[in-house]
Amino acid sequence: MFEERTRKPLIVPIFIPFQGCPHRCVYCEQEKITDQPAQAPDRAFVEHTLERAIRSPKYDPGRGREIAFYGGTFTRLPLEKMRELLRMVSPYIRKGWFQSVRVSTRPDGVDEERLEVLKTHGVSTVELGTQSMNDRVLALTRRNHTAEDTVKAVRLLRKFGFQTGIQLMPGLPGDSEITFMETVEEVVKLQPDLVRLYPTVVIRGTELARWFEEGHYQPLQLEEGVRVCMKSCKRLEGAGIPVTRMGLMGSPSLKGQIVAGPWHEAFGHLVRSEILFEKIEPHLPRNGQTPKIRLRVSPQEVSLLRGHKNAVIKRVESMTGAGVVEVFPDPSVPKGSPRVEWA
Ligand code: SF4
Repeated sequence: MFEERTRKPLIVPIFIPFQGCPHRCVYCEQEKITDQPAQAPDRAFVEHTLERAIRSPKYDPGRGREIAFYGGTFTRLPLEKMRELLRMVSPYIRKGWFQSVRVSTRPDGVDEERLEVLKTHGVSTVELGTQSMNDRVLALTRRNHTAEDTVKAVRLLRKFGFQTGIQLMPGLPGDSEITFMETVEEVVKLQPDLVRLYPTVVIRGTELARWFEEGHYQPLQLEEGVRVCMKSCKRLEGAGIPVTRMGLMGSPSLKGQIVAGPWHEAFGHLVRSEILFEKIEPHLPRNGQTPKIRLRVSPQEVSLLRGHKNAVIKRVESMTGAGVVEVFPDPSVPKGSPRVEWA
C-alpha cells in the first residue's frame, strides 16, 4: 500500500462526527463514514481507542505516532470542549506513546485564540477541509466559505508554526476537471505540507443524494476520478507537496451506503498504479515484438506495478501480446522509475 511506502506515521483517529460543524455539508455523512453517532467521544472511549492502538501490531516506537481528531470542525467546538478533548489525550503525549496531535477543521474556523489553545496542547498539524478553491463550486456546494478563507487560514497556521494539510474534493457540484486543476494550481501556490484527495461520492441520506436522484448532480465515474486524482497527484508531488491519501477509507457502516460516484476500496492504489503504468508505457514493445517481458521495480512498488488484482499486468499483456514473466523487486531501481526488459 502507498500508505506504508514511505514509513508514514501511524495516525490513530478519534472521530468527533459533526461536532463543531455550523451545518451539514451537502455531501457529508460522518456517522456512516466514521461508524459512530454524531457526538463527541467521552474519556472512556478516547482511552480505549488509544490503548487498543498501542497494543496493535501496527504500533511501532520506531515510526512516527500521532493522534488525530477527525470527522468534525475541531476549532469550532466551544473552547472548553476543545481543551477537554485535548487534555484527554495529553497523558499519552507526555508519556511518549504518541508524539503529537492533529486536527481537521474548516478554513473559516481558525482564529488566533483557538490556534493558541491547539499550540499549548500538543497539536502539530491542522488539516483544512478546503474542498475547492473555486468560489462558484463552494457556493453551489453550500460550503459557506470562500477560497480566500483558505488562503488566510494557511497564512495564520504558518504564523503559529503548524504543519498544514489541505483536503480537496474533485467532482463537487459545478466542478470539472479544468476547474479542479485550477484548484490544484492555487493549492500549489500555498505550498501546504500535505494534501489529501477525496473524490466526491454520493452517500445515502445526504442532500447530494437527493440532488443526484432528482438529476441535478452527476458524480464522476471511477475512471474520471482516478484520472483527475492522477493528474493532481503528479502536479502536487512534482511541486514537493506529498499527497498522503486518495479516496475515502471504507468503514463497515459505509457498505451499501454509497449511491454513486468514484468509490473503490483501493482507490489510492488504483491512482498510484496508473502513475507507474504511465512510466512504463512508452518503453513497452509493440504487439508481437517479443514473447516475454520482465519488469523491474523498487521493492516497495511491486504491488502497485502489478495493479489492483493484476490489472496492470493484464493490460501490458493485452497491449503487447507478450507474457509478463516477472515483476522483479530490485532495490537498485529508484521509486517511481520502473524498468521494462525484453529480448
Ligand atoms: S464536511 Fe466537514 S464541515 Fe461539513 S459537515 Fe462534514 S465534517 Fe462538518
